[in-house]
Amino acid sequence: MAAASGDGTSDLLVIGAGPGGYVAAIRASQLGMRVTLVEKRDAPGGTCLNIGCIPSKTLLHASEQYAALASGELSDFGIGAKGVSLDVAKLMAEKNKIIKGLTDGINYLLKKNRINYIRGQARLISANEVAVAGGSGSAKSADQRIKTKRILIASGSQSQPLTGVAVDEKNIVTSTGALSLSKVPKSMAVIGGGYIGLEMACVWQRLGARVEVVEFQPRILPGMDSEIASKFQKILEAQGIKFRLSTSVSQARLDKKSGVVLNVTAAGKSADKPSQIKADVALLAIGRRPYTENLGLDAVGVACDEGGRIKVNAKFETSVAGIYAIGDVIAGPMLAHKAEEDGVAAVECMAGKAGHVDYGLVAGIVYTNPEVAVIGKSEDDLKAEGVAYNKGAFPFTANSRARAIAHSEGFVKILAHAKTDRVLGVHIIGADAGGLIHECATAMAFAASAEDIARICHAHPTLNEAVKEAALAVDKRAIHI
Ligand code: FAD
Repeated sequence: MAAASGDGTSDLLVIGAGPGGYVAAIRASQLGMRVTLVEKRDAPGGTCLNIGCIPSKTLLHASEQYAALASGELSDFGIGAKGVSLDVAKLMAEKNKIIKGLTDGINYLLKKNRINYIRGQARLISANEVAVAGGSGSAKSADQRIKTKRILIASGSQSQPLTGVAVDEKNIVTSTGALSLSKVPKSMAVIGGGYIGLEMACVWQRLGARVEVVEFQPRILPGMDSEIASKFQKILEAQGIKFRLSTSVSQARLDKKSGVVLNVTAAGKSADKPSQIKADVALLAIGRRPYTENLGLDAVGVACDEGGRIKVNAKFETSVAGIYAIGDVIAGPMLAHKAEEDGVAAVECMAGKAGHVDYGLVAGIVYTNPEVAVIGKSEDDLKAEGVAYNKGAFPFTANSRARAIAHSEGFVKILAHAKTDRVLGVHIIGADAGGLIHECATAMAFAASAEDIARICHAHPTLNEAVKEAALAVDKRAIHI
């Protein structure tokens, strides 16, 4: 492991080796800084690799394959399978192997970039000094002090708790427990209809659980385009997932006979007599909150907003000179790719370059089947802001590739400014929506109009042709509908 520098002082000390922190560390090293990276978890990669994006996508992929075989979905293509089996222990072992492969890859990158990687819990002492407890690597003593010119906090987030719901990560779980269940529960109650709750609902429903989602709001996917959310809910209902909207959970407790018992009332009616939902497992997925415990923010005067997020300016500087923050611990979408972009922009700002992240161009994706992908303004946003817009929509039932692969659910919706035709938002439900959205991200980053997208030759037969057709539909000249 490379030492921080000859005199022991780093140019930059990064706290947290999630996608924000480790990417920032690598970029800083590329820019010539001597970097120390401190992580309290056993492996680098943060929430994303260890208990988030990657394990959830592995389980989504595996459960999709299982459901396709077990349900006879492929029988129309003449493909049948008898005796389809599921070994949950093996599935979890494979998931862990994939995580290990990726975290090993990050360790390799850290070494390659001569980053001084220390395992331990970091606490701020001042703008130029950090204490690391329980350290390994070059910080072996119980509470080593490390001097640094700058500090970047990338400590991420954790599951939002709910009063009355005592998580044990076995029967009453957060996403962390839901990613490691030892068997398929007969029934699962999911508290929260956001993307994490819905992805986990799909995994366990496909593997055989009866799943009911309880959501406080009158809709799922709060914050996303409401037309997309309501169409998506219908698709999930057709797959067998039940929804109880406008419903508040006041308690979840473990009963030896009935499993987990949830007390629920109509939202805003907590004085009413609660009704009960019984399930083998309850998943608490009502959102995530910034993780700043034991960081010593108060001691050095780093200010947070009312939501507990560290306040930063456009250069990711906190209220204390020399201390920066990025990723889930600051405002903006709590997504891995946003954290990475923050990390790069923050260290580029430190190096005197023009680092910048446009949060309006961060795509949000729900990796279910079909996928949901959104970028930019929703129709709800544009209506609330009084912006005049034109809308072009195109269904995948009219897209030849979607028909060829029998994945024709969903549609592409493009929202463009009524006067300038500039694309303001794109919303997709459909196969590979998460891949398709990047064509739109690129177009929007270059301030494209809907006509720009419509005039680009899109290869046939591809799902992307639905994006072109939606762009044509903005001007009411789609060809295939
Ligand atoms: P984190 O990844 O949370 O990393 C922070 C790290 O800092 C952690 O490893 C933590 O141990 C460490 N740390 C904290 N305090 C200290 C300290 N004092 N000393 C040392 N180390 C410390 N996002 C997507 O973009 N796509 C997805 O598909 C997706 N799926 C998700 C699925 C689930 C189930 C969950 C829970 C999240 C998912 N996310 C997804 C969100 C994504 O994981 C986060 O947005 C991303 O990890 C944030 O990156 P970060 O670097 O800011 O923080």
